[in-house]
Amino acid sequence: IQTILLKQRPTGRPKISDFEFITEESDLTLKKDEMLLETVYVSVDPYLRGRMSDAKSYVDPFKINKPIYSGSIAKVIASKHNKFNEGDYVSGMLDWKTKQISNGNGLIKVDATKAPLSAYLGVLGMTGLTAYLGLTEIGQPKTGETLVVSGAAGAVGSIVGQIGKILGLNVIGIAGTDEKVNMITSEFGFDHGINYNSSTNMNAAIKKVATSGVDIYFDNVGGPISDAVLFNINKFARMIICGAISVYNNTELPQSVSVQPFLIKNSALMQGFIISNFSEKFPEAINQLATWLADGKLTYTETIVEGFENIPKAFIDLFDGKNKGKMIVRI
Ligand code: NDP
Repeated sequence: IQTILLKQRPTGRPKISDFEFITEESDLTLKKDEMLLETVYVSVDPYLRGRMSDAKSYVDPFKINKPIYSGSIAKVIASKHNKFNEGDYVSGMLDWKTKQISNGNGLIKVDATKAPLSAYLGVLGMTGLTAYLGLTEIGQPKTGETLVVSGAAGAVGSIVGQIGKILGLNVIGIAGTDEKVNMITSEFGFDHGINYNSSTNMNAAIKKVATSGVDIYFDNVGGPISDAVLFNINKFARMIICGAISVYNNTELPQSVSVQPFLIKNSALMQGFIISNFSEKFPEAINQLATWLADGKLTYTETIVEGFENIPKAFIDLFDGKNKGKMIVRI
């Protein structure tokens, strides 16, 4: 069995040397109510960066010299569990291991005939839920309003913009390359895209396309991009603070604009959230996402990296924008 451990807490941008690969001989004999899982897909996500630090957060930090774990899909290859049978596929938080024994806690069965297995880590999983529930619960969108989404070509952002279109919004996406901007406008139906790497003045670039101002901002990145959006908000704007990937690797407190005057003069709302806040709404949200997918109203893309040994690299590549849509490793 191959395993990936957290060797040391990254300082700044994570490095391959922060991870350790080990090969173990493990006893794979199953006890009652246990099953043997073979990992099929591993999700790498920006939030894992937070767990690699020991700063206090909403989830416990990973432990040094212990396996890292993240959302994964695995195949049941042997089972003494009364709810899971050999051949089933399961989804849940699993260790970064090629095989592992599980008692089934926290795992759900996923149906490979209803959707490609990887979709359960993206559009029909955590990132799809984040997009849908963040936008609808906090954003309170109304037809005709203008939505700006940052990280627009990523797993969450690409779904946020499409849901915005389904709900009748004018949608502007911000992403890091012309190729990504082209993808969100031509494939995902966003009205406008802005490449933040080639725009010298983001404030002006947003003003130019958000001709009636910004009513909703779905923030995946934080930092100067979000400041530029803040300068363009309308009265009663809602700012959904989902992620801040641009500052996750900071080693010092970032310089930031003072948001208060903009919130006050616009009576605007800024609200952070973590997706587990909305857990009671997951079943209806998944149902809605699956229906839109089946009806062809929603689509998705993924960047699939091959090979267990490439999990840390795929994770690090998120910070360089190497992914389009959901970043997933196939084992
Ligand atoms: P993505 O698929 O969007 O991948 C990360 C993307 O971030 C990259 O592709 C890159 O795109 C962009 N990026 C990287 N560095 C920077 C930077 N310095 N400035 C601007 N953009 C950058 O990841 P997810 O969709 O999984 O997650 C998006 C955000 O949502 C993250 O911040 C994540 O932590 C957060 N999140 C929060 C949840 C919650 O419960 N609150 C749940 C899930 C995700 P580009 O080429 O465009 O720069």
